[in-house]
Formats: sequence, C-alpha cells, structure tokens
Amino acid sequence: MKIICIGRNYVLHAKELGNEVPFSPVYFLKPDTSLLLKNRPFYYPEFSDEIHYETELVVRINKVGKNIEEKFAHTYYNEVSLGIDFTARDIQREAKVKGLPWEKAKAFDHSAVLAEWVSKDEFEDLKDINFYLDVNGERAQTGNSGNMTFTIDYLISYLSKYMTLKIGDVIYTGTPAGVGPVKIGDHLQGYLEDKKMFDFKVK
Ligand code: ZN
Repeated sequence: MKIICIGRNYVLHAKELGNEVPFSPVYFLKPDTSLLLKNRPFYYPEFSDEIHYETELVVRINKVGKNIEEKFAHTYYNEVSLGIDFTARDIQREAKVKGLPWEKAKAFDHSAVLAEWVSKDEFEDLKDINFYLDVNGERAQTGNSGNMTFTIDYLISYLSKYMTLKIGDVIYTGTPAGVGPVKIGDHLQGYLEDKKMFDFKVK
C-alpha cells in the first residue's frame, strides 16, 4: 500500500506557512513504515527539534483505479478516518530552501498517525465533515472538509492520472490552519465530528 499526502489543500494553512495556494494539488508519499496505529505513543525523533502536528481527514481506496473520472471517484472509497501527518518542520524548511525532496521531513517512522476506519455513510455530506485536534485538553486545530481547495473526488481523479490507485492505499487530504509543535509529554486526541478517533501521548 502507499500513503499519499496532499499539501496546501486549505487556503488558510498554505498562507500560515507563507506558501502560494496551488492551482493543482501538491502531493508526496510516505512509506508503510510511517504508520502509527492503535493509539501507540509517538516517540519524538532525535533528528528534529520541531515536529509539527497536521490533523487530516484520511480516505481509504477500495478498488483499483487509473484515470478515474471525477464523477466516478466516489465509488473508489467507502471509508474515512482521521490522521496526523507529523512533519519535521525544521528539516522541511531546509529542504524547501535548497529545493530538495521532502521525504526526510515527512516520511520518517511513525509520522503517519491513523485511526480506525469509519463508513462514509455515517456522514450526511462528505463536504461538511468537522474534525478537531486537542493537545493537552485544549483545542489546537479545527477543520471542515468543505474548506478543502480540492475535494476528495477531485484528488482521487487527479492522483489516478499519475499513479494507479490500489486497494488499501490511503490519502491524507491535507491539513487546515493551526499546525503547531508537539513536545514530549503532550497528550493528543483527535475527533471526527463527535467521535473520538485517536488518543495517544508523545514520549
Ligand atoms: Zn499534511
């Protein structure tokens, strides 16, 4: 399986990092070794001094597809979840300045927190899903899927022009504004609407 992450999919987040709002989706990959499941703790890596959380709606592909038309994209996923795209912001900043790839900053072990899957049928409107991150009991990030620049269906169609999407592939659909640093001892809890999706500590 592959983990595809979308960058700059919320206007306010692109602006908070001083980036242009893109005309087409920006994406990068994480390997399967980046997954962090089942509320296991996140161990702060020694190679960075600035790990940021990015809370994102995640979609799981359930059918092989290539050159998927946007109008059929909704038939390629049944489940959504919530995740964190942990980012070594210090390393990413250096990579951006030097024009280098982002893998060192984004694809490290356990950088992709992923909760359990929820049927998309549980949501009335996939373009109006609220999600939240609490850090130490305080609301740190609030997102709504309606604020995405590129919808889930558009992303699936776009990505499938370049890469065959396979069963079990997951797409992190980008973070809303409000990203920030974590530190050892932090307690992170994520919610999709009212449902608690993950609950773990930084160690
Ligand atoms: Zn992200």
